[in-house]
Amino acid sequence: PQPTNMSTKDAQVEISQLQDELTDYGIAYYEQDAPKVEDHVYDEKYARLVALEQAFPQFVTPDSPTQNVGGAQTKSGLEKVQHPVPMLSLGDVFSLEELQEWENRTAKALGQQPSYNLELKIDGLAVSLKYDNGRLIQASTRGNGLIGEDVTANVKTIADVPQTLKEPLTIEVRGEIYMPKASFAHLNEERENQGQEPFANPRNAAAGSLRQLDARETKKRKLSAFIYYTAEADTLGVTKQSEVLRRFAELGLPTNKDNRVIGQMKDIAPYIAEYTEKRDGLPYGIDGVVVKVDDIDSEIDLGNTVKVPRWSIAYKFPPEEEQTIVRDIEWTV
Ligand code: NAD
Repeated sequence: PQPTNMSTKDAQVEISQLQDELTDYGIAYYEQDAPKVEDHVYDEKYARLVALEQAFPQFVTPDSPTQNVGGAQTKSGLEKVQHPVPMLSLGDVFSLEELQEWENRTAKALGQQPSYNLELKIDGLAVSLKYDNGRLIQASTRGNGLIGEDVTANVKTIADVPQTLKEPLTIEVRGEIYMPKASFAHLNEERENQGQEPFANPRNAAAGSLRQLDARETKKRKLSAFIYYTAEADTLGVTKQSEVLRRFAELGLPTNKDNRVIGQMKDIAPYIAEYTEKRDGLPYGIDGVVVKVDDIDSEIDLGNTVKVPRWSIAYKFPPEEEQTIVRDIEWTV
């Protein structure tokens, strides 16, 4: 039933069930790197919980999955790291209509129509890298957004991540650690040969491989990285997200070159179509497109909720099975 047609009692029961169920899925996914259900199943239940909690805000609890950045910070043997600037999740939408609604809200809040930087949503896990005078001194996972895990030794084995920047800057940058499709296929084949459970997807494989206690094990897993964010754009001397990416490349940080600046949201449709088409052929997994307000002062004006930035949104591709079905139908017609 629609949340608006439900009795308070029924809503309370369903909200509580969904909160428990999603928390349980989150533990399997983030802490054990072994999801119990497909992402789209999780996403649908999550969307239902959001709708119910909106209609019945009295049942939103501080520990609801909607109020917390999901992530592990508990692996024994890995030190905890506090993030002075929280590492957030992203709000997500699944259609162009929802993107348009998000743009309407964003433009209204800003009082003007912003430009956007479009980026691919890399299917990996977020990492924070601290450079001191140009030298990599710490790497950590997102964890629950406030406290992550120290993975410095592990990240130092990743060839793409420079140990030294080309300029002696002191800056914290963030990005995605991912496992290229080829490494993923190879790793799973090896695991199956050894009678181990294969990883469900490259993201879980990347997370499992990064969160190793022995960095030599991480090194064998052939991880890569794309860096896409800093809260310290002023250190780079720029005012736009698209310029941040350009400066990262100048510093020798790995960046994804497929970003595109658009002047209005309707220009996103060809980008989504292009990468829906190119997706299978890319050497790494992507699960959507991330839209970011390009002007950094506007980002700061918009700010964040407890869980997600208001200046960015993820458009998620439909699950792969559905795409196959669409292709099959076209094929038979
Ligand atoms: P998310 O992965 O949907 O989006 C946020 C993340 O996107 C960021 O933290 C960052 O790591 C990443 N990202 C990739 N490219 C980026 C770019 N260019 N710019 C900015 N960020 C970029 O959100 P989440 O909170 O990490 O995870 C929630 C998702 O995880 C759910 O939507 C679900 O699909 C999945 N999940 C699945 C299960 C399951 O049981 N299958 C359980 C929990 C979560």
